[in-house]
Amino acid sequence: MELTTPIHGVKGVGAKTEQLFQKTGVYTVGDILLRFPREYAQFPEPVEIDEAVADKRQAVILRVDAPAVVKRARSMPVTVCAGRHGQAQMEFVWFRMPYVRNTLKSGETFILYGRAQQKGTGLSMEQPAIYTPEQYGALAGTLQPVYGLTAGLTNNLYRKTLRQILLDEKILQRDHLPDGIRKKCRLAEYNYAVSQIHFPDDFEALTQARRRLVFDEFFLFILAMRLQKEQVQKLENAYEIDCREELLEPLLEKLPYPLTGAQRRVLGEIRDGLCGPYVMQRLIQGDVGSGKTVVAFLAMYLVSRSGCQSAIMAPTEVLAAQHYETFTQYCELFGLHIPVILLTGSMTAKQKRNAYERMQLYRNAMVIGTHTLIQERAEFADLALVVTDEQHRFGVRQRETLALKGYSPHILVMSATPIPRTLAIILYGDMEISVIDEVPARRLPVKNCVVGTGYRKKAYEFIAKEIKNGHQAYVICPLVEASEHTEGENVTDYVEKLRQALPSDVCIDVLHGKMKAEAKNRIMEAFAKNEIQALVSTTVVEVGVNVPNATVMMIEDAQRFGLAQLHQLRGRVGRGDAQSYCIMINTSDAKEAGKRLEVLNKTNDGFKIASEDLKMRGPGDFFGIRQSGDLAFQLADVYQDARELQQAAEEASALLADDPKLSRPEHEKLRARLERYLSEDAGRLNL
Ligand code: ADP
Ligand code: MG
Repeated sequence: MELTTPIHGVKGVGAKTEQLFQKTGVYTVGDILLRFPREYAQFPEPVEIDEAVADKRQAVILRVDAPAVVKRARSMPVTVCAGRHGQAQMEFVWFRMPYVRNTLKSGETFILYGRAQQKGTGLSMEQPAIYTPEQYGALAGTLQPVYGLTAGLTNNLYRKTLRQILLDEKILQRDHLPDGIRKKCRLAEYNYAVSQIHFPDDFEALTQARRRLVFDEFFLFILAMRLQKEQVQKLENAYEIDCREELLEPLLEKLPYPLTGAQRRVLGEIRDGLCGPYVMQRLIQGDVGSGKTVVAFLAMYLVSRSGCQSAIMAPTEVLAAQHYETFTQYCELFGLHIPVILLTGSMTAKQKRNAYERMQLYRNAMVIGTHTLIQERAEFADLALVVTDEQHRFGVRQRETLALKGYSPHILVMSATPIPRTLAIILYGDMEISVIDEVPARRLPVKNCVVGTGYRKKAYEFIAKEIKNGHQAYVICPLVEASEHTEGENVTDYVEKLRQALPSDVCIDVLHGKMKAEAKNRIMEAFAKNEIQALVSTTVVEVGVNVPNATVMMIEDAQRFGLAQLHQLRGRVGRGDAQSYCIMINTSDAKEAGKRLEVLNKTNDGFKIASEDLKMRGPGDFFGIRQSGDLAFQLADVYQDARELQQAAEEASALLADDPKLSRPEHEKLRARLERYLSEDAGRLNL
């Protein structure tokens, strides 16, 4: 077996299963090895029946004192066993498993694992897994990997396939990291790290494995970036764009608001870059709602004025479609006749052809799209400026590919992820950095509250009231559909719940990442037009969407999100003139969860939030909570792993100073790994 062996080459994987694996992005043995668990299930400490609660996965101790009975319901055998502890009673139910009765012998004790529901006055648990106390004891405390799956592909099958691969010991025995670096930074060996990240012996091993792989991600990213930079920087004949003040003045006068001081300053820095002799490479950092879009538009306008094309690339179709609308409106507002062209993956072949033609025809066009701009055979006529919005979703390679489509376009990267300057310098190489550190003054700060589930009813009433006053609301759930492994609200069921809770004339709809791009666009457009008043969504709305009329952001299971991510979500409201509200439902009773969420209550400053989050999280918090889904890393988190990031950067610098092209024989493995990284990077889109 090789890393490149197709997944059907693994014992037990047939053609049908292979197709399922491919749906999750797994084509080869190497793919599945490097697709790490999304989280780890832990078997909880068993509780007595009187401590059990509804709607939560738990292990309950059952002492059998009366034998189970098998009833029949519509010719289906139903096994029921009742248990009690103190005053509390609980019922355990199995369908189509009459043999269970023989297992549950009177006088013996079992641990039953499952989810209980309230039924009448007692709890009822259906289809629980049955363990003897010894069996359960062996499992308790272990970490069971949970993978991102697709319908038909079970976690068990996923695990079995991985175990099968990891039996082949040769497969990973090739650490690409130079020994010196590994020893100096005290990193686990690669093969150990990969097998432990999937099947950790214990928490300590998992921590070590993760640290090694996090270092790897940063290290490869930084090396790739530095090596690529060399190639790109050789292209030097920059477009010189006319950026005189008087070209902008008439537009600024027509804007319904004055630009903030920070917007003006950053626009000035961009203009300096565009009119100079060198290719501009600039990162714009600006908190959510700081008004980056209009700055991008004005820069692109200047490029158009000089008769050249510009492109803005968004990470999602929803955002691309929204930018298209916004840009078209700006052109109308300013009385400009600049062709605005949309190009996204979900367009029909005919629409795409039409877009290509216009891109050839209009040498001053503004092109708006998703990664389709680089993936498809899009040819620009005269590309002088490339803007990537919410940059983190793109890998290094993608940025460069688009750059290479033009001759040597200026590059502007816009990010709302608040990273400290020192880290930004590492992650963005030698890009220059501008910060929009001011939000429009007129805006009212969002009012926050962190509450328990008991507050839901009030929250719904509040939402109904806001909607009645003409406003709109988002409700965010962590999951798309009910999951057997993960606790939490899911949008599919939640939308029904909300329909019950809100007046019947309120239009409620759903948005999530598994929907087709076209459907997502349709929903988002309808929401923007207030045809939908309440949108139940996963975090897909997190990135950049702008509906100023929305005033309520309600977040279910808020403690499951990273603070910076919650801050992004909250940034979807408070974008217009009306007072906005963010209601965070904390469904956990852990003290730390509440404390973490309180941080958001206290400040609206994205930078502060990110660093607070870091301080408050213990080393044990690293799974479950991802700071933000929009970073280009699979495991690494720039906040939490800031130390590894710094370390990887130092080691990368030292290595390249010593062997600039990594051409020495002892770096051969690393070079090979890096080449694979770059080819994977082209496909690494986390949409
Ligand atoms: P982000 O930086 O998060 O991308 P947007 O560019 O989407 O923010 O802007 C958010 C909202 O603020 C938009 O509705 C935009 O029209 C508005 N806006 C931008 N600049 C200003 C300003 N200087 N004054 C008032 N509103 C502004
Ligand atoms: Mg934006």
